[in-house]
Amino acid sequence: MIAKTAGRTAVVTGGASGIGRAIAERLSADGHRVATLDLHPSGESGYKADVTDRAQIDEALAGIRREFGPVTILVNAAGRDGFKRFAKLSFEEWEQIVDVNLHGTFHCIQAVLPDMLEAGWGRIVNISSSSTHSGQPFMAHYVAAKSAVNGLTKALALEFGPKGITVNAIPPGFVDTPMLRGAAERGLLGGTVEDHIGRTPVRRVGLPEDIAAAASFFASEEAGYITGQILGVNGGRNT
Ligand code: NAD
Repeated sequence: MIAKTAGRTAVVTGGASGIGRAIAERLSADGHRVATLDLHPSGESGYKADVTDRAQIDEALAGIRREFGPVTILVNAAGRDGFKRFAKLSFEEWEQIVDVNLHGTFHCIQAVLPDMLEAGWGRIVNISSSSTHSGQPFMAHYVAAKSAVNGLTKALALEFGPKGITVNAIPPGFVDTPMLRGAAERGLLGGTVEDHIGRTPVRRVGLPEDIAAAASFFASEEAGYITGQILGVNGGRNT
């Protein structure tokens, strides 16, 4: 029987909104001490940091370690979408999306790793995207960055498994958050939310809590034999 261990320190990036916020709330309900990192932080344990800026991350983490102790759970949920025809996509726009979604994940993982290595225990959960399974027109930069996050997940799982650290990814399907609603309002989804629900086998839109449930499992003691996995939480849209 695997002992249940609560009371670890968790950091959730992008924790002020949508999926990140639901994950922070869920990990807190699981009994962990949770701090969030976000461009627009909210709540008492919300820290301001741009995940593309290592100095800001390190400064926020110093405060989190002082307040909550070493960080042994990290969920990378900060992200930004982007829609543009590839032929018109400037390299600068490409870089901005890759910077937040991929380089932000790189920085946050590297910044918390010393705590996990010291503890000989860690859980890293990366939120990628179901578009990495299916592709998505006009989102080449986003899909490329999120696909790289899945690859990073697999590589780090092998590198850090022997150190007691698991690394898994969750590519969400169609989840009702400000990001999704913003894209819907701008007519960028290739159909209405209702059209997408019709194409989803379980016939509903995903909720941030659906993603949080999977993240909670990956962060748990019981998931210690699971690493390098890409778990689609998508209502059956991408099987
Ligand atoms: P959201 O816009 O509601 O939340 C994203 C959060 O990330 C915001 O609080 C934002 O301030 C923060 N953020 C953005 N750039 C940042 C930066 N540079 N530094 C720090 N924080 C930053 O979006 P969401 O839908 O909750 O998305 C969460 C994650 O899930 C993202 O990585 C997104 O790409 C991914 N995702 C979402 C869906 C969906 O359907 N909603 C589908 C697939 C993947």
